[in-house]
Formats: sequence, C-alpha cells, structure tokens
Amino acid sequence: MQLEESSSRDEPPLAGLSSKQFISPGKGHWRDVSDADWNDHRWQLQHRLTNLNQISALLRLTPEEEAGFKLSGHKLATAITPYFFNLVEADDPGGPIRRQVIPRIEETHTARWEMTDPCGEDNHSPVPGLVHRYPDRVLLLVTDRCAAYCRYCTRSRLVSGASDYDFHPKIEQALAYIREHHEVRDVLISGGDPLLLSDEKLDWLLGRLRNIRHVELVRIGSRIPIFLPQRITPELCATLRKHHPLWLSIHTNHPRECTLEMKAACERLSDAGIPLGNQSVLLRDVNDDPATMKALLQKLLMMRVRPYYIYQCDLITGSAHLRSSVSRGLEIMESLRGHTTGYAVPQYVIDAPGGGGKVPVSPEYVVYRDEERVIFRNYEGKVFEYPETLPDAAPQPAKPRPIETA
Ligand SMILES: *Cc1c(COP(=O)(O)O)cnc(C)c1O
Repeated sequence: MQLEESSSRDEPPLAGLSSKQFISPGKGHWRDVSDADWNDHRWQLQHRLTNLNQISALLRLTPEEEAGFKLSGHKLATAITPYFFNLVEADDPGGPIRRQVIPRIEETHTARWEMTDPCGEDNHSPVPGLVHRYPDRVLLLVTDRCAAYCRYCTRSRLVSGASDYDFHPKIEQALAYIREHHEVRDVLISGGDPLLLSDEKLDWLLGRLRNIRHVELVRIGSRIPIFLPQRITPELCATLRKHHPLWLSIHTNHPRECTLEMKAACERLSDAGIPLGNQSVLLRDVNDDPATMKALLQKLLMMRVRPYYIYQCDLITGSAHLRSSVSRGLEIMESLRGHTTGYAVPQYVIDAPGGGGKVPVSPEYVVYRDEERVIFRNYEGKVFEYPETLPDAAPQPAKPRPIETA
C-alpha cells in the first residue's frame, strides 16, 4: 500500500467543495493505487484504516483523539475505508466527518442516563439477532460488522467485535419465528451492515424471507453507499431486484458525504427499483444547524433519496460529546417545514430510552384547540382558524337497520 504523508500534500482534498456540489474525494493518499483496485470494494475493505499507527501516519491527531484510540478500543473498534478517509478533514479536528469516525477520549466517559443498550433491544429479542418491538414488523440483525464504525453507534455493544458481547445471530431460528408469527408483515434487515454479506448470502436470505407468505415487505438498513459505495455493484443490484418489494434505508449525516461515488451508487440502487430512504442522526457540530441539515436533505432529493427520519442521538455510553439537544432538533425541524420541499422534510424521532420505540417530536403548530375550533400557525408565524367539525353539523349517516335473519 502506497501512502502519501499528509505533510507532503500540496492541496487539501476538500478545497473548493461547497455543500451542494457533488464531487469525488479522489484517491488522495492512495494516488498510486490502480483504478481497478481503488474501485474494488474488496480492496477498500482490505485496506481499511484500523489502528493508531496507520491513521497517525496520515493525519495529525490531537491528544484527545490519540487517547481515544488507546482507551476506547475495547468498546468499539475503529475502521475507516480509504475512500471515506479521504473525506476526513485533515486540518480540522472538529470537522463533521472526522467527528463521526475518529475516536476521542470523551468516549470513555459515561454520562448520566447513558446506557450500553439504550433502546432496550435485548429485552425485546425472542431469538438472538431478532428484535420484535412493534406489532407487525421485526428487526433482523444479520452481522456485527460494518465497513466503517460510527463513534455514536447505538449498537456498539454488539458491533465490531471489540466488546465481550457474544453476538451470534440464529438466522434459522429467526426465520422460524417469522414463519410462525403471521402478524409479521415487514422485516427490516440490519446489523452491522447487511450489505457486507456476499451476493450469494443475501440472495439466500432474501429468498428465504420471500418464501414466507405473510412477509409483504423486506427492508435493508445500510451505510455502505456512504462508507463503501464500490460495494453497490451491478451484480449486487441484480441480486437485490429479484426480491421486490425491497426498500433500503441509508444513513447520511452531512452534505459532504454525498459524493459523486455515493450518488452513482444510489442511482444504481434506484434504477434497480429499490426505493431509498435516509436516516440521519442529529449530531453536535456535525449537522445540528439548519443550513447544514437543509443542504443535506436537498442533496439527498437530488440523488432520489427520500429523507425518512432524523434521530435524536440515542443515550449510548460515551456519546455526550456528539449529542445535540432536543430543542435544537425542534428548531431545525421548524426551519425546514414550509421553507423547503415537503419531500425533504423527514420525521424527527426519539427512540424512547429503555425501549418504547420511535416517538415523533414536532414543533407545535396548534396554538389552541377546543370542541369548536382549532387555531394554528403556519411556517411564517401567521395564525389561522379552522372550525372543528361538530357532530350535528356533519351529514347524518343512514341508520343501520337490523339484519333480517331467515
Ligand atoms: C426502527 C425499528 C423498526 C422499524 O421502524 P419503522 O418506524 O417502521 O421504520 C422496527 N423494529 C425496531 C426494533 C426498530 O428499532
């Protein structure tokens, strides 16, 4: 592997990159690697940066980051693909991409309220690897590995293999559970990142799920299009499209993650007929300001990705430095509704601590409400009134007559 020293770079790779431009980060430090290797997802995975030596050779780490590397490794491993590493801000330790993937000493602090399983998934798991929280759908965790690790990962207890959590999904048992539970009409495959499984394994799994008659919908949650867009090959898309209706949720947090490579990956998925949604996590100094969030959401629409959720960051241990406030989240939501395309406006949710599921939180638009009227405001703050429909004002439905029985 040819690595270029960061000190010898003549130009920062992100120069001239505005938030609404789609650019390629290029090969950066790996400019001597062949295009064939660079564009090969296996090469990208084999050359991931996973330790302090590799990263400090390319990036001048702050003492907080260096200590983070040394002390947080038993909780969540570090891994960054070369492609994504070229988006990391070399000269800005507070950079929005850098804060997502480079560990910091703050990760070793456990703040009040913080938990290792903040959404109480393990308590709703009838089979290892399966979470059944809602009446009609289940979450199926098929792997504990990702292409790169997000420092605020809500499943850091089980992903990356760094902690002593014993993750062994029982796929056959999970399939049997779904087969026996006729109320399960929607299966969300997640992990870890399911798109790290081979095409053959995915084909097998999706085929098995498709063979269950009451499973109407299969969904995949993946950050591969952001961390490793090279994985979205035509062959993978051909495999996925055999199993429609299949939906996919990606996880993008900042407009600079939306590169030409990611855009092309999303287009290949969309062209395979897969509707794409996006889930963002509200992160302090990453995307918790209206301008950054709006640029991200609008950029997603240009890639045919529909923003689905903004999550309030879960209370995962060691995430206090990355969590933003709910009032900031509400302020951002208010800056979106009415001010930009409705399709760009996701639902802001808090996944209830301890396990109550996702709960929507929204700015208040209803100013007053009684039996006779609703008074509400619009995005500009103008106030309007709508009459409440009174029972005696509504057209009376025909009285049902008793059915004559013979
Ligand atoms: C998020 C989640 C789902 C899917 O929820 P939707 O709101 O339908 O996207 C299902 N199960 C679990 C356990 C989840 O956390």
